[in-house]
Amino acid sequence: MKAIKMPESIGLVDCQRWDLQDPLASLREQFVLPRDVIYLDGNSLGAMPKAAAARVQQVTEHEWAQGLIGSWNHAHWFDLPNRVGDKIAQLIGASPAQVLATDSTSINLFKVLSVALCAAAKASQTRRVVLSERSNFPTDLYIAQSLCQQHGMTLELCEANEIAPRLQQGDVAVLMLTHVDYRSGGMHDMAAFNQLAASVGALTVWDLAHSAGAVPIQLEADAADFAVGCGYKYFNGGPGAPAFIWVNPKHAETWAQPLSGWWGHARPFAFKADYQAALGVQRYACGTQPIISLAALECGVDSLLAASKLTPDASHPMRALREKSLALSTLFMRLIEQRCADFGLVVVTPKDPAKRGSHVSLQHSQTVPSAFACSSAYAIVQALIARGVVGDFRAGDASAPAGSSAHADLLRFGFAPAYLSFADLWHAVEHLRQVLQSAAWQEPQFQQTQAVT
Ligand SMILES: *Cc1c(COP(=O)(O)O)cnc(C)c1O
Repeated sequence: MKAIKMPESIGLVDCQRWDLQDPLASLREQFVLPRDVIYLDGNSLGAMPKAAAARVQQVTEHEWAQGLIGSWNHAHWFDLPNRVGDKIAQLIGASPAQVLATDSTSINLFKVLSVALCAAAKASQTRRVVLSERSNFPTDLYIAQSLCQQHGMTLELCEANEIAPRLQQGDVAVLMLTHVDYRSGGMHDMAAFNQLAASVGALTVWDLAHSAGAVPIQLEADAADFAVGCGYKYFNGGPGAPAFIWVNPKHAETWAQPLSGWWGHARPFAFKADYQAALGVQRYACGTQPIISLAALECGVDSLLAASKLTPDASHPMRALREKSLALSTLFMRLIEQRCADFGLVVVTPKDPAKRGSHVSLQHSQTVPSAFACSSAYAIVQALIARGVVGDFRAGDASAPAGSSAHADLLRFGFAPAYLSFADLWHAVEHLRQVLQSAAWQEPQFQQTQAVT
């Protein structure tokens, strides 16, 4: 879908016309989506592909119940992390056999960051800093804190515009960034940072949690060093789906990762007492993998590869999905400006399409009644969920400096291009307008906070 020309004032009929012209519209049929729900949280937990339910049933009732242990061989369970990894590789600009679908994003980050720190320490005694952003996803920062402690390094956090000058000071060992910011939706120029980092002797570790399956990524062409990403977000792999791990082939065999379990051994079924790391990315495996979850994840990844079959484009299998994603987020921003301008909502996501991923975040800056029990952004999200419009709330870090992008409370709306329509967004913004205009969000039931926001 080429960039849509949007009129000054956008109506529902315009959105319906764009749906009719959408070459990816039929992909929605592949998913189970509840009636009366507009799901704008596929960036947090992707929708379920119909194929996943059938596949899980096949794995449990046939491969597990009937095939029993023989299914490790006969149902090809053993190399499932590799097979799913090869499919993911197509979507992130990597070659076959460079990606493993395995473990969680946090665990994979631990593995690659450990290796990056070992490699950096060997290369230089003077580069002792891991540089990241204050607004990075907390698990990434927690993992980095722990590893820095073990390796005698320092974790330094800065704002996006401070990264380049900080890198040039020459003491950064590893630049650890999340490609698309989970809060603002802002996207880094991966190629530029890889180049800059390489020029000052630093390694790059990328977290693709909010970009894999949302934007075209070129890990090899852009010369990244290490990357990890998530299976349950845009990849639609299901709750707790295995994540993935990619290592630039130039590093793949220089170091053994620290979680040296038997699945990463060169010959696991030789049952030798001594560890010997497998070749390539296989050494980044640790132990026995969740086969049922991996089977579901494969269906999720297939659901995105299906887009590239509908609209073949040699430049990148994500191209058509990216074009639709940008059309959706542009439409959403325009509708917010057009229909919600009077209610103190500010779009914090970059307007420049090249600088954003596939979600849009809003800040609510209107004054809140004095006895209000929670953030107004939280209450507005709850009031929308009660109407079937599912987005989410991301709390700001009150201890971050006032000017920091980590500071504000945000309403966050994700646009999974595989199953959302343009009319969905029109209706979602209309609900938002009604919630704000009626002040329905101030009702007490929307102020009760739950464990998972
Ligand atoms: C969602 C997300 C994670 C999740 O990590 P888990 O190990 O799956 O809990 C990690 N990093 C980022 C940037 C994320 O957005």
